[in-house]
Amino acid sequence: TKAYLASMEAARSLNAYIVETPEQALSMAAASDERLAKGEAKALEGVPIGVKDLFATEGVHTQAASHILDKFKPTYESTVTANLWNDGAVMLGKLNMDEFAMGSSNETSYYGPVVNPWRREGSNAPLVPGGSSGGSAAAVAARLCAGATATDTGGSIRQPAAFTGTVGIKPTYGRCSRWGTVAFASSLDQAGPIARTVRDAAILLKSMASVDAKDTTSVDVPVGDYEGAVGQSVKGLRIGIPREYRLDGMSAEIDALWQQGIAWLKEAGAEIVDISLPHTKYALPAYYIVAPAEASSNLARYDGVRYGLRVPGEDIASMYENTRSAGFGREVKRRILIGTYVLSAGYYDAYYVRAQRIRTLIKRDFDLAFAAGVDAVLTPATPSAAFGLEEMALASPVEMYLNDVFTVTVNMAGLPGLAVPAGLDKSKLPLGLQLIGRPFEEETLFRLGQVIE
Ligand code: GLN
Repeated sequence: TKAYLASMEAARSLNAYIVETPEQALSMAAASDERLAKGEAKALEGVPIGVKDLFATEGVHTQAASHILDKFKPTYESTVTANLWNDGAVMLGKLNMDEFAMGSSNETSYYGPVVNPWRREGSNAPLVPGGSSGGSAAAVAARLCAGATATDTGGSIRQPAAFTGTVGIKPTYGRCSRWGTVAFASSLDQAGPIARTVRDAAILLKSMASVDAKDTTSVDVPVGDYEGAVGQSVKGLRIGIPREYRLDGMSAEIDALWQQGIAWLKEAGAEIVDISLPHTKYALPAYYIVAPAEASSNLARYDGVRYGLRVPGEDIASMYENTRSAGFGREVKRRILIGTYVLSAGYYDAYYVRAQRIRTLIKRDFDLAFAAGVDAVLTPATPSAAFGLEEMALASPVEMYLNDVFTVTVNMAGLPGLAVPAGLDKSKLPLGLQLIGRPFEEETLFRLGQVIE
């Protein structure tokens, strides 16, 4: 713990942590030492963890990297982090992220962007770590924690993992409790770990996952032996390669990476089959209706009365208006506008209801592939390696949204998805592949992931 606290101090220029909690960390570590001395070690005894700022931490600032939650200190602990502490893990601090988890570059944070510890060969230009869990991914990659909590609504665990050469898993919807996690789009949000290796991710997920009476969408399926799955043979597993993920204009490098992943799995004894997921192309536009719609509803609670920031006004309506105008950043406001628009009378059927229908079709595509005997699907994790700070933000919001093209289907269908580092691009930046599994069969992903990493 002391070594991590020292590295955090030395690497503050990465801006990975918003809040550091050294006192808490040292006292939790001391308690771990005592249990170890008594021979009562728990599963994660003394393991130093960084926590994405989206998870409520009792008595510790929880601001979702937004100004509107300024200095908010919850009186409760999220279920996911409580599970980690119950297993003996140590909290190092709160990690930077895109504001309310909206973004793919960590540039929408009120606390400024996170810098990716990686650089292009021969260049010192700063790159983004991906988002929204950019702080989590950068901190793991730079060794500023042994593992981190993260969340994924449309790719926010898998894309930053791919951009930083780390491993990230978005579990099946309902595998981890959402209780105490600041809501973005409730039907898509899932917590999961970012870690250095597939094995570490497996160990962390085992601790984070649980059924929880406080989240009725958490599911009562036993948590698997994830660590035991790592290293198990993949012989005979059937891996689907969906032709719709071969996008027009896909870079040769990404395609080569994908072929390499296929070759490795084949060599390890898996069977490769071509599959079709015909509704893939509708996933991204449908996601950018469903997610903002739910966000606009979830964010209605930030009114200057209940949490964080309050900007006074002449009456209560102007206080709401002043608080929300000052408290939310541009991207969050854009999502609220889109969300309220698609939920408005007259547009609801044209946009929201249609997007929900597309969601059903996307899920059915996967169901049919699994019913035909496919155990997992292999795709690229992202369309490119990490890009430069400001590069995409200056282009357009839609350019930024295109980053999620390979990841959003998984959230729309509620499936587990694992991003695993698979190679380097021509400027020596990490690239990742994605494995998508059947509901609650995370074990299969850990088995396959270890062959690739
Ligand atoms: N980049 C996507 C978005 O901005 C996904 C974010 C996420 O998974 N939290 O909505």
